[in-house]
Amino acid sequence: MSAPRDVAGKRLPAGQYADNFADLKPPLDTHQAAVESDRCYFCYDAPCTLACPTHIDIPSFIYKIRSGNLAGSARDILAENIFGAMCARVCPVEDLCEGACVRNTAEDKPVAIGLLQRHATDALLATDKPLFARAPASGKRVAVVGGGPAGLACAHRLAMLGHDVSVFEARAKLGGLNEHGIAAYKVKDNIAQREIDWLLSIGGISVRTGQRVGVDIALAQLRHDFDAVFLGIGLGAVNALGLDGESVPGVFDAVRYIEDLRQSNDLSSLPVGRRVVVIGGGMTAIDIAVQARKLGADEVTLLYRRGSGQMGASGYERELAQSQGVNVRFWSRPRRLVLRDGEAVGIEIERTELVAGKLVATGATQVLAADMVFKAIGQTLVPDALDKDALGILDTSAGKLRVDENRRTSLAGVWAGGDCVGTSKDLTVAAVQDGKLAAIDIDRALRA
Ligand SMILES: Cc1cc2nc3c(=O)[nH]c(=O)nc-3n(C[C@H](O)[C@H](O)[C@H](O)COP(=O)(O)OP(=O)(O)OC[C@H]3O[C@@H](n4cnc5c(N)ncnc54)[C@H](O)[C@@H]3O)c2cc1C
Ligand code: SF4
Repeated sequence: MSAPRDVAGKRLPAGQYADNFADLKPPLDTHQAAVESDRCYFCYDAPCTLACPTHIDIPSFIYKIRSGNLAGSARDILAENIFGAMCARVCPVEDLCEGACVRNTAEDKPVAIGLLQRHATDALLATDKPLFARAPASGKRVAVVGGGPAGLACAHRLAMLGHDVSVFEARAKLGGLNEHGIAAYKVKDNIAQREIDWLLSIGGISVRTGQRVGVDIALAQLRHDFDAVFLGIGLGAVNALGLDGESVPGVFDAVRYIEDLRQSNDLSSLPVGRRVVVIGGGMTAIDIAVQARKLGADEVTLLYRRGSGQMGASGYERELAQSQGVNVRFWSRPRRLVLRDGEAVGIEIERTELVAGKLVATGATQVLAADMVFKAIGQTLVPDALDKDALGILDTSAGKLRVDENRRTSLAGVWAGGDCVGTSKDLTVAAVQDGKLAAIDIDRALRA
């Protein structure tokens, strides 16, 4: 552990970055889409539709691809999930729709629902057609806080229902983690922004970027000025490891790094360590580990304190990491950062095991050298959008906002959804469903 930390850009030949970050699952061409759509049994009870958090009528959209009606197919998808193009790329389909497909057996393989969804929605986005019209103006105004998938799904549905919507977004760009978080190799060709541009073309949605509610404008003000408020503020901070010295150089917030990566126009300029250690077991951990390898890190070790079955990331994501040369070490937890001259140069790890169902440390330790240590152990809510009177909707034991099945908070006129509430797994598709359900309930409330 005497060598200096080796963190540098341009680790790879210039042309290799584009290859490494190429589309993870390339699109189907027309012939492939026809063949794949023919594999669907069009089950009357469609377990895939039940397994999709937004309940897209999957047999119906696939049937329309088979008959060449791509616009009709896109309508089926987008009527339930306005982020159909992004979700087609980022949904963990093996755990959702494709996992439930009746062809998902040892002898067969599921219908490629995600790729077919991408085929139909990409065709629509290429035409720039708005597809949905607005209902007659209701005269009601709704404020949406947060321009991620939850906020924008809510905004679009409200606009469709005839309400005027103002989206307040803290960052300079809309999109939330679709734009700043999801792995670069899943979302090529600026798809996140192209989908948002299409979605906003419905009209009736005004966007105020660079406006952090709680700092630039108070929630109380929004409640006063608008007929309803939707909070889709996501989870803005990363959990701490709880180790001494974790703010020293050499220790990185994985989400922040991924954000830089997503916004970079020149991936070769991103500094990456030769030896990288990632701590965590969810999608963020897998994404940073894979992207560090793709940026040219020689050794990437991912530490997860439990076994593969308990990992937040899906089996597909885990295999992706392993296929990219990431060394995944289960039953390992960080014990201590190894510091030299005020910088982290390694990490001491400890084996863990289950004893009577409880995770315990075994005392067996090992030191790994590391030029970069990434924290990726989950995110946490930054409640700065909440005024004093709104803090009551925060479930302090779970660290998220409390909502009912219609995504209503207990604060009059305030709904919430997406990662900032605890209704389901933190996924884009779940955030979209929350935004949609909230909009339907807001509409009901405003017309009552
Ligand atoms: C690294 C990473 C990879 C992921 N990969 C996947 C994947 O492959 N597939 C998948 O399904 N899911 C993935 N997810 C999860 C998915 O991105 C989230 O579940 C989804 O984006 C949640 O949407 P949201 O709208 O609730 O929050 P966000 O996307 O976080 O959007 C919240 C928005 O609110 C804004 N905001 C916050 N506070 C305020 C405020 N006070 N005032 C105004 N604006 C505010 C933020 O700037 C942000 O734009 C990933 C997450 C991460 C971190
Ligand atoms: S939104 Fe996601 S889960 Fe639902 S059908 Fe599409 S790819 Fe499957």
